[in-house]
Amino acid sequence: MAKVRILPDRVANQIAAGEVIERPAAVVKELVENSLDAGATRIEVEFRHGGRSLMRVEDNGCGLSRDDALLALERHATSKIAEAADLDRLASYGFRGEALPSIASVARFELQTREAAGDVGTEILVNGGKFIHVRDCGRPVGTRIEVTHLFNSVPARRKFLKTDQTEAAHIVQCVRLYALACPRTAFTLIEDGRVVFRSPECSTLAERIAEIFGRQTAAELVPLEAMETGMRLSGLIGRPGVGRGTRHEMIVFVNARPVDSRTLNYALIESYHESLPKGRYPLAFVFFECDPAAVDVNVHPAKREVRFRSETAVRGFVIRAVLERLREIGSAEAGNRKLASDVTVTLSVGKAAAPFAPVLPAPDLSHAQPERRVLDNMPRPRSAAPAPIENRESKNENPDWRFVGLAHGNYALFETAAGLVLLDRRAAHERVWFERLQEQFRAGAVPCQRLLLPLPLELDPIASVLLFDRLAFLNAHGFEVAEFGRNFFRVEAVPAWMEPADAEPFLRDLLGALRDGRLQGKDPDVAREELARLAAAKAVRLRETGGEAELSALVGQLFATRHPLTSPGGRPTYIELNHGELARRFQK
Ligand code: ADP
Ligand code: MG
Repeated sequence: MAKVRILPDRVANQIAAGEVIERPAAVVKELVENSLDAGATRIEVEFRHGGRSLMRVEDNGCGLSRDDALLALERHATSKIAEAADLDRLASYGFRGEALPSIASVARFELQTREAAGDVGTEILVNGGKFIHVRDCGRPVGTRIEVTHLFNSVPARRKFLKTDQTEAAHIVQCVRLYALACPRTAFTLIEDGRVVFRSPECSTLAERIAEIFGRQTAAELVPLEAMETGMRLSGLIGRPGVGRGTRHEMIVFVNARPVDSRTLNYALIESYHESLPKGRYPLAFVFFECDPAAVDVNVHPAKREVRFRSETAVRGFVIRAVLERLREIGSAEAGNRKLASDVTVTLSVGKAAAPFAPVLPAPDLSHAQPERRVLDNMPRPRSAAPAPIENRESKNENPDWRFVGLAHGNYALFETAAGLVLLDRRAAHERVWFERLQEQFRAGAVPCQRLLLPLPLELDPIASVLLFDRLAFLNAHGFEVAEFGRNFFRVEAVPAWMEPADAEPFLRDLLGALRDGRLQGKDPDVAREELARLAAAKAVRLRETGGEAELSALVGQLFATRHPLTSPGGRPTYIELNHGELARRFQK
């Protein structure tokens, strides 16, 4: 017979911890939120070994009295709400009263705190949910929480932790998000004794983004500000045409809370529909604000997801706001573009250097020789491009297709003995490039071109870890990328097929693919294939008009591949309409 019993607090807390505290970064998130809720203007976060051995969050917030501190460790103890209706007026990150007891149940947890009214501080120590001591301690007003031996008492969870580097990257990313959300609070983040970033109080959002996400990213953004009844959208968004291969750089806050909101993400993607090619995601750091009653943050254990009372209204507002801004920028930049293209012409015929300010992160300039720097950042003449595809020899006979013409720059019509063929020019080129690159990869002989001056690449910490892990792989495939400082890399050579100007966006896309788990396979062939797929899409550069020579040669090359029927992405390369089909269509 089943016997129903109420779980002891310690067990209940450990179970709750399973939901709230998935990984070290979740501890940091909860503690930083508490510090912000306590009104801190200064927060210092330190961790060691990806948070496994130590996480410490110290603030100058309001602090707690001894009684309150003891109470705060009880389940469902919170100072932030008193009744369910308060959720509609929520102005704090926390409200469930779950985080502290959950963390204390799965780690060694030491809290030191002092409120302004108290003349002495309180220290409480709990280990794996077991209360050890409470005593007076000396400390300034504010709170310091130190979490060590995370998940020691729950080995099952410890097993799920990734490498220290990966866990560290998640912690860094988490602190970055809160530092963005609260530019008025000074943040210091220290990893293994080294300062990762230190953001002073009162910086603007743009400064914070530049400090934390890098100047390269900041330079690609434009400010956004819009208001409608009860809703406000502000922040910075990518210029039209600036996109990423994944959603990781669409960063969205709802009432200052970093969230993963489908509604807002879709609204952003949709707004960029005409400003980005298909499959690209916008770059955005946007803050949506509304009446707390219009949004439910209580739908996810870690509060990552939110639900809006009126999803349609929010979506409509965001799309209108972003579209309008993109249009403004579009028309403002149309004028500039004309100017810029004039400059390009001058440069490529080798006239004196023009003030073509390259966007480089500050540290990279020190080692550069100025005269070469200018040269290297100039647009390259097309002659630097790899040999055009029609110069390649084809192994097989062309099938008996007679070129008729090219429509929309991409669809080539051929007459064949069996009827008609419509060839997708891009898909066919991609297939040819894909197999050519795969061959190079297999042979371990990827021709590469050395850059006159290395290209700086500044990444977020998660991307940096991923790139770092794959340096050997990239270096074996035509790149030469070297680590150059924390989150900084230098691209010293790129594959011969690549325009040097494409290297940065390509590597960012590649990292996006890595982040989505592609290219991850233990089997190097799988990773190589994915790399070739990405590369093939980039390597194809179609001229405006394709002539008979190119297209006939292309058909030959296509049929020399192993899978001429499909593009590397699996789409058909051509469609055949045989006489029977034509007769049927024309009802002959
Ligand atoms: P919640 O944040 O949902 O209220 P927590 O378990 O995270 O629940 O915290 C419990 C309570 O402890 C909070 O409501 C707050 O009163 C207090 N507290 C936690 N951290 C701090 C801090 N850094 N400074 C002041 N008070 C804090
Ligand atoms: Mg909390």
